[in-house]
Amino acid sequence: MKRPSGATQVAAVIGHPVRHSLSPVLHNAAFEACDLDWVYVALDVEPGAAPAALTGVRALGIRGLNVTMPHKTDVAHAVDRLTPEAQALDAVNCVTNHDGDLIGHNTDGPGFVDSLRAEGIDVHAMACVVLGAGGAARAVVRSLADAGAREVVVVNRTAGKAAVAAALADGVGRVGSTADLAGADLIVNATSVGMGDPATSAALPLEPHVLRAGQVVADLVYHPLETGLLVAARQAGATPVGGLGMLVHQAGRAFSLWTGVAAPIDTMMDAALAHLAR
Ligand code: NAP
Repeated sequence: MKRPSGATQVAAVIGHPVRHSLSPVLHNAAFEACDLDWVYVALDVEPGAAPAALTGVRALGIRGLNVTMPHKTDVAHAVDRLTPEAQALDAVNCVTNHDGDLIGHNTDGPGFVDSLRAEGIDVHAMACVVLGAGGAARAVVRSLADAGAREVVVVNRTAGKAAVAAALADGVGRVGSTADLAGADLIVNATSVGMGDPATSAALPLEPHVLRAGQVVADLVYHPLETGLLVAARQAGATPVGGLGMLVHQAGRAFSLWTGVAAPIDTMMDAALAHLAR
């Protein structure tokens, strides 16, 4: 990495907790690969303090900001303008700073669709089932509809939240049940089931007998990289897609918004894998 100087541009992620964020690894690797005099840091911001952090972004001239839990909605209410995506989701994961004018974006859903495309998977005309209705699920639901999915069915433990998520899939969304899984072309696990240490990561968000050859099974969970769901998908002859691709591609979109430079996706993925292997 270039040695920081008075000319170095700063980007950051705010969250709480944020110490274990992979974003500094991804972005600093990308800055170095593109020979950009930028540096990326993680800043722990207490719940409720996101508006004050944005005042700091303006005052300090921080050029690019990522936003993670628990600040995504607070930031959506505190920036100067929102993209249509961020407005619909009422959540921001990326901020661009135009001389103090802050624009809130949401690159999570487009990053997910990019990660499928990188595996040669086009969601156009696919029947999709999204398990979960939290922040990640809502972003994915909207982007699947935008990318031309034939149907986006939301299956969630809490029914009321499923209806809110399904409404984001303009005209093609509905609330469903596990009975919809067998007929799906694409199943996305956007719950937190399967996350964490190997003892609990074997937990599955669905009954594995519904999986079959010809389906794509995507897990947004990337810790561990190989979840129980991905193992079950492979055993059933389905195509498994891990969650690290979404993380890298949403970061790639943020990188391009800030710098105007195409993101070095392979470099970012290699940096993430090397870091996780440590
Ligand atoms: P969130 O807003 O807290 O939503 C969690 C979702 O999981 C809710 O729909 C919740 O259902 C469901 N859920 C939790 N425990 C469950 C259980 N035991 N059984 C059934 N459903 C359960 O979280 P989020 O931000 O959307 O994140 C969801 C997952 O996506 C996490 O694993 C996160 O790490 C991952 N993620 C990955 C990326 C990436 O780049 N790959 C990005 C964002 C998130 P209820 O509504 O019923 O509570």
